[in-house]
Amino acid sequence: MMLIHCPHCGPRAQIEFSYERTLDSIVTLDMPANEAVARLYARTNPRGLDDELWRHGLGCRQWLVLRRHRQTHEIVSVTDYVPAVPR
Ligand SMILES: [Zn+2]
Repeated sequence: MMLIHCPHCGPRAQIEFSYERTLDSIVTLDMPANEAVARLYARTNPRGLDDELWRHGLGCRQWLVLRRHRQTHEIVSVTDYVPAVPR
């Protein structure tokens, strides 16, 4: 069982959380179309650490950023998600 250390609730079972997407695949309505397409369909998938958007739906319901290794699943950090301010 994978434990995720929520900054608000402490260590909790992964089943309490839901995965949304990687941070680099988030698109916004004001983003140029070519950038949105690149973010959705032309992303690389390298080995190593990645920043992922998760939600603690069965806990504090906060959106969180998990920095997680793609191969080992080791979680390096868990922080609150702060959405970018629209341009
Ligand atoms: Zn929580």
